[in-house]
Amino acid sequence: MSTPFDVAIVGLGAMGSAAAYQLARRGQRVVGIDRFSPPHGMGSSHGHTRMIREAYYEDPIYVPLVQRAYALWAELERAAGGRTLMIQTGGLMIGSEQSALVTGTLRSAQEHGLPHEVLASTALHRQYPAFSPLDDMVGIRDPRAGILLPEQIISAHLSLAEHHGAQLRRDTVVHGWERTAEGLAIRAGNEVVIARQVVVAAGAWTSSLLGEGVVPLRLERQVIHWFDPLQAPEYFTPKRMPVSMWELPNGNLFYTKPDLGDGVKIGMHHGGLEMTIDSVDRRISETEDALIYDLLRRFVPFAKGHPLDRAVCIYTNTPDRHFVVDRHPEEPDILILSPCSGHGFKFASVLGEVAADLIITGTSSFDLSTFALSRFAS
Ligand SMILES: Cc1cc2nc3c(=O)[nH]c(=O)nc-3n(C[C@H](O)[C@H](O)[C@H](O)COP(=O)(O)OP(=O)(O)OC[C@H]3O[C@@H](n4cnc5c(N)ncnc54)[C@H](O)[C@@H]3O)c2cc1C
Repeated sequence: MSTPFDVAIVGLGAMGSAAAYQLARRGQRVVGIDRFSPPHGMGSSHGHTRMIREAYYEDPIYVPLVQRAYALWAELERAAGGRTLMIQTGGLMIGSEQSALVTGTLRSAQEHGLPHEVLASTALHRQYPAFSPLDDMVGIRDPRAGILLPEQIISAHLSLAEHHGAQLRRDTVVHGWERTAEGLAIRAGNEVVIARQVVVAAGAWTSSLLGEGVVPLRLERQVIHWFDPLQAPEYFTPKRMPVSMWELPNGNLFYTKPDLGDGVKIGMHHGGLEMTIDSVDRRISETEDALIYDLLRRFVPFAKGHPLDRAVCIYTNTPDRHFVVDRHPEEPDILILSPCSGHGFKFASVLGEVAADLIITGTSSFDLSTFALSRFAS
C-alpha cells in the first residue's frame, strides 16, 4: 500500500483550496478532492466578486481575523505572480442610526480603533451620486473595504497548492471514510485514499457528507443580478462607487458592487428560500427580479438599466450565523471547516492558515471558541 497522505481535503472551493495551499506550502503531503472542477458555479463561491470589509458589523471578534486575511490576500497576489485578486474600493454600510448594520459597524470600528467616517444622507449622496439613501439613513465609510475575485482566487490557491506538491482529484465525489490502522480510508470516486487527517470543506454538501445533525446547517437560496447602468456609467466604476451594504427599515439587507466590466452587481443578503442540496432551483422567478428592480429604482436608480446576467448561489447557514471550525465530535482526525452563513469568503485566506495550524500543530493563535460545535449542544 502507498504511504498515507498527511491530510486529505474534501472540497476545493473557497476554504478547501486555501487550506490545500497553506498545508502544501508547509510541507504536508496533501490530497485535495472535489466533486466538480473548481472554480465552478454549483456551490457558494461563484459570481465574479465577494466583498471584504474591516469594520465588521456582525461582531468585533471577526476584526483580527479579517486583518490577517487582508495580509494573506496581499501575499497571495504576490505568490501568484502579481495578479490582482483584491480591489480596494472602500465600503459604505448604510441604514438608520439604530440599524444593526450601522450600530454593529460602529461598534467594531470603535472597539478596534479602525478608520471610519459617518456620512449623513445628503453628504453621502453628494459624495457618491450612485446612491440615493432615505433621509434618515447614514452611511459608515470603511476605507479598507473592497472586492475579492473568487474564481481567480480559487484557481490561484489550487495552482499554488499543486506547485507545492499537492495532488488534486477533480470531478471526484467523496462518499465517506472508514478508520483503518494506517489512517482514514476515504472513498473518493473509484479510489480509496488513505490520510492521517481530513479537512471537510464541503460547503453546502457538508451535512450530506457528515450526516444530518453533526453540524446544524440550513441551505438558503440566493440570487445575484448584474445590470448595465441606465445612465452616468462613470458613477459605477470601482473608483467612484464603493461596495455597499444596506439595511432597509424592515430589517432586510442588500448589497451592491461596482461595475468591473460585467455590470453593477446587486443581491439580497439572506431572506432567501430554504432548500436542500438536492432541490436547488436555479431558475429565477419574475418576483425575484421585481424585488431587485424595486430596490434599484429606490436606492441606486441610475444603475437600473439593461439586466446583463443573473445567478443562483447557496448560503450554508448555522443557527447563529457564526462559522464552524472544529474537530468532528466523534472523529478527532477530521477538521470541519464550514465558514459560510453568507459572509465567509473574505476569511478564506486566514481560515486556510488556521486549518493548516490546527492540522500541523493542533492549535491556532486565534480564539476559535465562537466557532466551536459545542455551542450548539444546548
Ligand atoms: C451570492 C453569495 C454572495 C456572497 N457574498 C459574500 C461576500 O460578499 N463576502 C464574503 O465574505 N462572503 C460572501 N459569500 C459567502 C462565501 O462566498 C462563502 O462563505 C464561501 O464561498 C464558502 O466557501 P466553501 O469553501 O465553504 O464552499 P464552496 O466554495 O462551495 O466549496 C465547497 C466545495 O466542496 C465540494 N464538495 C462538496 N461535497 C463534496 C464531496 N462529497 N466530494 C468532493 N467534493 C465535494 C464542492 O464541489 C465545492 O467545490 C457569499 C455567498 C453567496 C452564495
